[in-house]
Amino acid sequence: MLRIVFLGNAAAMPTPNSPTSSFALKTGSTFLFDCSEGAQRQLMKFKISYAKVKCIFLSHLHADHFLGILGLTQTLNMIGRKEELIIYGPTGTSEFMKNLFSQKQLRTNFPIKAIDVPRAKKGIYSDKLIRVDAFPVKHNAPAIGFLIEEQPINKFHEEKARGLGIKGRLFSEIQDKGEITIDGKKIRLEDVTFMKYGKKIVYSGDSIPTANVVKYSESADLLIHDSTFSDAHNASAKEKFHSTAKDCAEIAKKAKVKKLILTHFSNRYENLDILREEAGKIFENTDIAKPGLEVLV
Ligand SMILES: [Zn+2]
Repeated sequence: MLRIVFLGNAAAMPTPNSPTSSFALKTGSTFLFDCSEGAQRQLMKFKISYAKVKCIFLSHLHADHFLGILGLTQTLNMIGRKEELIIYGPTGTSEFMKNLFSQKQLRTNFPIKAIDVPRAKKGIYSDKLIRVDAFPVKHNAPAIGFLIEEQPINKFHEEKARGLGIKGRLFSEIQDKGEITIDGKKIRLEDVTFMKYGKKIVYSGDSIPTANVVKYSESADLLIHDSTFSDAHNASAKEKFHSTAKDCAEIAKKAKVKKLILTHFSNRYENLDILREEAGKIFENTDIAKPGLEVLV
């Protein structure tokens, strides 16, 4: 199960109701997908450990997506963090972060490592629980989207295994050795197990509609997509390299995702329901990102 908490949903600049777009993924550690201004305060407010932020995944280097890094790293420094913080982002991220953190006022006593992801890459981050892939999207700056996937696990076909005489301790024995022999018959682990694939979440970052998002979101459990504008402002959306709620719904439908969450809203929309309704006409299971919205996938 993957747990997501939205920290903000605004595009370009914060509103009285929300900081700009970013969200946290909580496993044993905390992972941030974009880090908008005030992200640390949102983490505190929603009781997500800011001290456990392990990596920050930046969709691109526009200020509404990274300003929160400055405050967060200063707080982490003050609480005595020693562990390295890793920041992944598109081309230019490592140079930008190097310049930023070379300013003596921003230096930290813990290492900050920034890694450029210039093209589609599987497993930019991977641990026992999750894997993160990155892929290019289309914005008016180098930009990437992310696929977050739970690691697959090897599960027993219980009935089949028991039918072949595997019981009790023999389950761990076959796992350790890869095969066992029962009544003279050799049974291989792969004969009695199958791979159970984990849950899948895709985040577009800021982008016009792209084939890449459709491809990476195929059958995903959740798609989180830039929905800066409504269809009534489609021309502005394309001019500024953003998507409309309708675009998001069409992508979700094409990719056959299970759920769509719209985010990164222009501050011209006081009532976000119009965006949800617009998308909902094409893709029913659509929701609106709001600060504090928690989604279990
Ligand atoms: Zn943005």
